[in-house]
Amino acid sequence: MTTDCIFCKIAAKEIPANIVYEDDTVIAFRDLTPQAPVHVLIVPKKHMENIAALVASDDDEKLAGHIMKVAVKVAEAENIKNGWRLVANTGEDGGQTVPHLHFHVLGGRKMLWPPG
Ligand code: AMP
Repeated sequence: MTTDCIFCKIAAKEIPANIVYEDDTVIAFRDLTPQAPVHVLIVPKKHMENIAALVASDDDEKLAGHIMKVAVKVAEAENIKNGWRLVANTGEDGGQTVPHLHFHVLGGRKMLWPPG
C-alpha cells in the first residue's frame, strides 16, 4: 500500500466507496464522477501506477486476464447488454489523473468515438 494513494485507501477500506465487486486481488467501485449511466473502476489492490508497471510485475498475465474477466462480470451484473467500453487512461497525455492502475467500465449509453 502507498500511504497517500486514494485507490490504495479505498482498497484498504480507509475511505468509503460504492463497491460493486471485490476479491483477493481486485476491487471494483462506482466512479465518483460518472461519465455514463454505468461507470465502474476496476482497481488491482496491489499498488502499481499503470499498465507498464503491470507488465513489469511477476504476475502480470494472470492479473491482466483476471481484470478482463472481472470487467465482463461487472458488465453482466450492470446489465449493459448493448455494449460497453473498457478504458485505461495512461499517463498525463492519456488523461490519467489517479496514478494507481485502474480500468474504467463505461456503459448504459452510446459511447462516442473518438473519445473527447
Ligand atoms: P483517470 O482520470 O483515468 O485517472 O480516472 C480516475 C477516476 O477516478 C476519475 O474518473 C475520478 O472521477 C475517479 N475518482 C477519483 N476519486 C475517486 C473516489 N474517491 N471514488 C471513486 N472514484 C474516484
